[in-house]
Amino acid sequence: MKKPLSLYIHIPYCVRKCAYCDFLSFSCGEREAEIAGYVGRLIREIAENACKYVDREVISIFIGGGTPSVIKADYIADILGCIKEKYRVSDEAEISMEANPGTLDREKLMIYRKAGVNRLSIGCQSVHDDELKCLGRIHSFEDFIRCYDMARECGFENINVDLMAGLPGSDEKKLEKSLRTVAEMGPEHISVYDLIIEEGTPFHARYGGKGAAQLPDEETDRKMYHMTASVLKEYGLERYEISNYAKPGYECRHNLVYWNREDYLGLGLNAASCVDNVRWKNTSDMSKYMKGGEIREEREELSINEQKFETMMLGLRLIRGVSIQEYRNRYGADLYEEYGEHIAKMKEYGLLTEGAGFLRLTEAGLDVADAVIEGFAVD
Ligand code: SF4
Repeated sequence: MKKPLSLYIHIPYCVRKCAYCDFLSFSCGEREAEIAGYVGRLIREIAENACKYVDREVISIFIGGGTPSVIKADYIADILGCIKEKYRVSDEAEISMEANPGTLDREKLMIYRKAGVNRLSIGCQSVHDDELKCLGRIHSFEDFIRCYDMARECGFENINVDLMAGLPGSDEKKLEKSLRTVAEMGPEHISVYDLIIEEGTPFHARYGGKGAAQLPDEETDRKMYHMTASVLKEYGLERYEISNYAKPGYECRHNLVYWNREDYLGLGLNAASCVDNVRWKNTSDMSKYMKGGEIREEREELSINEQKFETMMLGLRLIRGVSIQEYRNRYGADLYEEYGEHIAKMKEYGLLTEGAGFLRLTEAGLDVADAVIEGFAVD
């Protein structure tokens, strides 16, 4: 039996662009015909690739974007219908879809359910309308509540809510209010990502350079990070990855595929893949994508050293850490023999620890994760 496979499906449309976002997405405005064409092309890409993965079992599907809930719900049903027809999708597969308040209604939710979506990931970002406005989000917190309740009424039993930390003018009190308000609603999973000021976005013009003074400083940021974990724990949401919290058994299967370096196939404009240690990206050029033919770019075969580094880089993001035995199984090598010096130094500084066969970051290590991880890079 070959390794399992996960599928990522990219829907590059949103109602309009948020002020901080640098994802590849277009506002859907007058693009109905383009969207119909894109979905048709995407379905062809899904079908054409199926023959390469006949012996793989699809264990998770993630429909992301963009805002997948902005396009007609029937398109989502058609996409999933094609996947189920052409691929061996496990009966237990996690099928997630991203959705934004302001783009959902009962009818759409029922179509998603019927099509097999069993996990909804809703972008809330904040419970404060002033913060939502500043971010350029299309919805209010009230809109989020309506959409969350509707999803529950339509039978969604596995919901993630996205929140953001480090927003302009934010402080511990405001973030705590967002965390508690959302956690009280009882989602199975919450992701809390730090705002990143990306070049080329309106936020970069506003908060890059001198404007950065309006963002929480490093010390406040770390305090907010620790507070997030302890507040969410009160609601039974355990941190299992640097930015992700879940009730037991609700850790996101699809994202675990990335962190565990398992195989994933990305389909759609600009979608990234890594299968059998070969990585590539689909073109980000819409007309090239629509034409078909060779759309895969940046193909790269990962060397054994790159694979090992990625295993450490991604695995240490998980709170349980990297399995020493699993590392040995994959690479026929001992973690301590390969990185003994670095591990010993990091342990001495109290940044890494070991337990139950896993090497992991300590609380202090999580604060400087990038620096600790860098030490695992091999030339
Ligand atoms: S909804 Fe998401 S993908 Fe779309 S512009 Fe906003 S942040 Fe970007």
